[in-house]
Amino acid sequence: MTDELRQRIADAIRPTMLMGLQDAELFDAPGAERIGEWVDWISNKVTEVLQSDLDQLRGRIHSLHKYVPDADYCDLCSNHGDITWPCATVRALDGPPEPAPAVHVGGNAEDCPACDGTNPPYLFICPGPDSEEA
Ligand SMILES: [Zn+2]
Ligand SMILES: [Zn+2]
Repeated sequence: MTDELRQRIADAIRPTMLMGLQDAELFDAPGAERIGEWVDWISNKVTEVLQSDLDQLRGRIHSLHKYVPDADYCDLCSNHGDITWPCATVRALDGPPEPAPAVHVGGNAEDCPACDGTNPPYLFICPGPDSEEA
């Protein structure tokens, strides 16, 4: 696995580096800038390869945790006493749920969570719940 991963990373960066570094002059400040650009490019390429592996692994783990609609829990984790959905593993894989977007409540904009942080025009009146803007 490690050799195979190392090989895929090498394959991902080798062709571009072989072309891009032919006759490269890497001296002094311009060279340092060029090397810095290569470091950024290489780290992005390696991250792409690793992120793809992580996404596949996450998908494989996810597929083991199946929702049982009638019981409203994870089939696998219910064997270990976790009778919630999403189960602890799925919550850990997916991260916290997105918070619901704030809704305009109307009235004084200072009392509205959706207006918070915005700069509504004077008189600072919230556009209200029928407003399109969030
Ligand atoms: Zn589970
Ligand atoms: Zn508002």
